[in-house]
Amino acid sequence: MDTLNIDFLVFGGGMAGMTAAAKVASKGRIVLVVEKAAEIGGSTVLSGGKLWTAKSMELFEQETPGGDPALRRAVFDMFDEAVAWLRSTGVTVADVTYHLHYGKGYDFDVVGYIDYCRRVVEQAGGTVIRGATADRLIVRDGGVEGAVVVDRDGETIVHAPWTLLATGGFSANPQLLECFVHRRGGSALARSNPHSTGDGMRLGLGAGAALSPFMKGFYGHVIQSPVNQWGPREFRTYTQGGSIKGIMINQQGARFCDESLGDHQNAQRILEQPQARAAILFDEAVRREEARTILAGTDTPIDKVSIAMNEGARVAVGDTWEQVFETVETWGFAREPGLATILAYNATASAGNRQTHPSRVRELRAYDTPPFYAIEGQTGVTATHGGLRVDAQARVLNSGSQPVRGLLAAGADAGNIYGEGYAGGLAAGATFALLAAQQVIGDERTI
Ligand SMILES: Cc1cc2nc3c(=O)[nH]c(=O)nc-3n(C[C@H](O)[C@H](O)[C@H](O)COP(=O)(O)OP(=O)(O)OC[C@H]3O[C@@H](n4cnc5c(N)ncnc54)[C@H](O)[C@@H]3O)c2cc1C
Repeated sequence: MDTLNIDFLVFGGGMAGMTAAAKVASKGRIVLVVEKAAEIGGSTVLSGGKLWTAKSMELFEQETPGGDPALRRAVFDMFDEAVAWLRSTGVTVADVTYHLHYGKGYDFDVVGYIDYCRRVVEQAGGTVIRGATADRLIVRDGGVEGAVVVDRDGETIVHAPWTLLATGGFSANPQLLECFVHRRGGSALARSNPHSTGDGMRLGLGAGAALSPFMKGFYGHVIQSPVNQWGPREFRTYTQGGSIKGIMINQQGARFCDESLGDHQNAQRILEQPQARAAILFDEAVRREEARTILAGTDTPIDKVSIAMNEGARVAVGDTWEQVFETVETWGFAREPGLATILAYNATASAGNRQTHPSRVRELRAYDTPPFYAIEGQTGVTATHGGLRVDAQARVLNSGSQPVRGLLAAGADAGNIYGEGYAGGLAAGATFALLAAQQVIGDERTI
């Protein structure tokens, strides 16, 4: 069996893995990046390429309930350094823009960035291998000293004082979603690369790591239902981000959450409903507002209602809510309770009364501009938030909350940064990657 000695071993070629690899390689260290897929990039290159996080610590805490305070603080404190690092690479980084009601960030050339990182690793004498994974980590005296790397040519023993797990969580593993997220988690669509199946977690646990608290959190979106095809092209066009402007009912006809908290929270709540389905109800006014939304990476607005209608999803349209519910009933939603819910909600909202149940902090309005719409929605999981227990220096911890020597985690493998909220997956990847790199190269804060 071949043996290799290097400075830094990285599993996963997405934002987290490639950032850490390039940062360490930029200091002249020899890095091996192991990527399971045929190409590097992971969910990162499928993303909108906006590096963003919360505008203030106060908003961060408010928007990431259940998240670990020290870990979210680490993302917030490292964010400017991550932006400076990104700019230092020479890839295109746009001016600041504002995201959702609580974030700020920067659009950047995400594909160019991942390729830049690869070149830095290779120019420093390191290697990026594709189509490879790890059988197990090498554990000696309670610490990790490398891994047995497997590719189509066989096994290689790789010795390294530091190993980073950055395999992107378990969004693409239905069994783990069912086990950790929700008993209906296995029915969710993977709105991510297909290779993030929990390997980082498996490898870490095998080396003595502990799981993070709050394993059920994830970042996802509400997706039109059903889908007759499903792949990266549909990840954004089938996303019904307008769920925050409508109301959602379950098959019993009841509202079940404050829809205005965010489409990512709506995706979590839908999974908890019967059959993991909801009907999103809204009117022509909402449709027109939403049809002005421009998809990241494009310059033309798209109308998600038309897409849903044309591509086989359940969409009901009517001049009255009664007409809409004639169709919604055929999807398995209780007609009378559903109709009562929308009519009561409209009456409350038009009276200017904020006493809805569940409560509504934003976007309280009556849906009274015909035609009226219902779209069936389901859950798409983009990135899981539970994972390996880590500290605010990206060190993986054991069940006694002590660092497992030599083992780091970043990105979606680093557990419980965001709880059931969300403040930027690329930011979690980049900031924890820079923290991991600091462990490897020492605390060199200069870019
Ligand atoms: C459509 C879409 C839009 C998005 N838009 C945004 C956005 O604008 N802003 C934002 O902040 N976030 C966005 N996200 C989320 C963001 O892309 C992810 O949170 C982020 O990419 C996670 O980074 P990561 O490095 O942890 O994982 P990834 O980028 O997924 O990288 C993980 C890599 O590990 C590899 N891997 C898995 N198992 C193994 C193994 N055993 N060995 C070796 N390699 C392995 C995978 O193949 C993958 O390449 C979006 C996601 C999607 C899908």
